[in-house]
Amino acid sequence: MPRYVHTPHLDDVPSTADVIIIGGGPAGAAALWALYELDPTLEVVLIERAEQLASGSSTASLENFRTCWPTACIAHQCAESLTVYLNADRWIGEGASQLVQPKVRGYLFCGFTPNQAEQLEADVAHLHAAGMPHIEFLDEAALRRRFPWLDASVIAAKYDPQAGWLDSYGLVNAYVKAAEKAVVLLGVEGATICHTDGQVSGVQWRTGHIQTARVILANGAGAVETARASGLSLPVVLRPRQSFTSDFRHEQFPPDAPMLISAAPYPHVRPEAGSSAIFGWEYQWCSPERDSSQALTDYLTQPHPNLNELKDPRFPSITLALLARHFGHATHGFADSRYLRGVRHNVGYYVYRDATAAYTVAADGSHAPYTSERAILDQHPEVRGLFLSVAHSGHGIMTSAAAGRIVARHALGMALHDPLYEQFRIGVHWVEHDENAL
Ligand SMILES: Cc1cc2nc3c(=O)[nH]c(=O)nc-3n(C[C@H](O)[C@H](O)[C@H](O)COP(=O)(O)OP(=O)(O)OC[C@H]3O[C@@H](n4cnc5c(N)ncnc54)[C@H](O)[C@@H]3O)c2cc1C
Repeated sequence: MPRYVHTPHLDDVPSTADVIIIGGGPAGAAALWALYELDPTLEVVLIERAEQLASGSSTASLENFRTCWPTACIAHQCAESLTVYLNADRWIGEGASQLVQPKVRGYLFCGFTPNQAEQLEADVAHLHAAGMPHIEFLDEAALRRRFPWLDASVIAAKYDPQAGWLDSYGLVNAYVKAAEKAVVLLGVEGATICHTDGQVSGVQWRTGHIQTARVILANGAGAVETARASGLSLPVVLRPRQSFTSDFRHEQFPPDAPMLISAAPYPHVRPEAGSSAIFGWEYQWCSPERDSSQALTDYLTQPHPNLNELKDPRFPSITLALLARHFGHATHGFADSRYLRGVRHNVGYYVYRDATAAYTVAADGSHAPYTSERAILDQHPEVRGLFLSVAHSGHGIMTSAAAGRIVARHALGMALHDPLYEQFRIGVHWVEHDENAL
């Protein structure tokens, strides 16, 4: 077990460390595990602002994983990470499987019209060509056979049979538990990175300071503030994203069902423990801080002072109404008002690369910038010894094992274990077209 210190004072913390990680969510915890996987002799300190690990976006997440990604580097990250989750005792440590609890139940992307069916079939052909032959296109007959409980309104589907979900809190704790030599500081507010002449020299906060030449910044949306307080900037933006859990699940939606992803705008739902269900999707959201002189944006450039204020109270009922409309439920299924009983409504951030970092190439060769969901796993361009594991958008749990290994290798000056992972560098532009639904 690592040594845990709550609200540490100077006497409680080591004066130096080989590496300091800021952030104890999926990204930071995975980096910790991966550092020790590479070098068990290291002295690593993990600093978490909250009183417990995994207190950021993962608390609002659906904890899903999938293997179908149109972008090769993300597909590789997910495939590598899934191997770790499905064999957690072997890759993370004894007892890890029990904490991670992976459930392989599949993802079913549903089509309701001939056009949608055609699009899903084309997606599957693309994924096959991209080296994912296990992704299936299910026509109406195959759907009725495989999922007889599914509404007749669904006429085709793209099916990822290796997808599923896990316990993200268990995963984070399994990673940290495996780092026996580490020191974990909980309840540390306002840690900043000290750097001189473009080189990291340590981390400090109000009551403490640790010297180090290497810091991994992995604190999700909080990284924006940590960078700013350290005199640096990060090319990322934040989008609040909601989910909710209902204690009710309709009898037509069985406990072993896959995650159902509806048509655009892609509301999705999966069975949750017992007889409950968990829902999510994204709809256009505008910054509440915008004044009339500013352009309309659908993102924040820093975390909101009170994240809970960003919850839209209509979110659960709008989600259910959308699903009921798509699946053709007038009085039953997702239209059942019992879904609104015992709702737990959550909000967290998707952290994206900002539009300075990514673009698509138009037919005339011009660049169209956009915010991309490709994580940044690289050294900061201005400060040697500062490594970034940020911008994990909507897949930071499912990709965490590979992301941890990538950033750990950068921090230890080692070559990457998969050349495709060079594509997570800060300066790499993303020019592939990926209309991501989730
Ligand atoms: C509604 C929703 C649904 C999602 N569904 C999925 C899904 O199904 N599958 C999936 O893979 N991903 C999903 N995600 C995305 C996933 O939650 C994130 O990609 C992932 O949590 C990012 O991990 P992280 O460690 O970078 O950040 P976080 O999870 O935000 O963790 C950051 C940690 O750093 C700590 N911290 C913050 N500031 C500081 C500081 N100054 N000093 C020290 N510590 C600090 C926080 O307390 C937290 O513990 C979802 C997210 C949301 C919001």
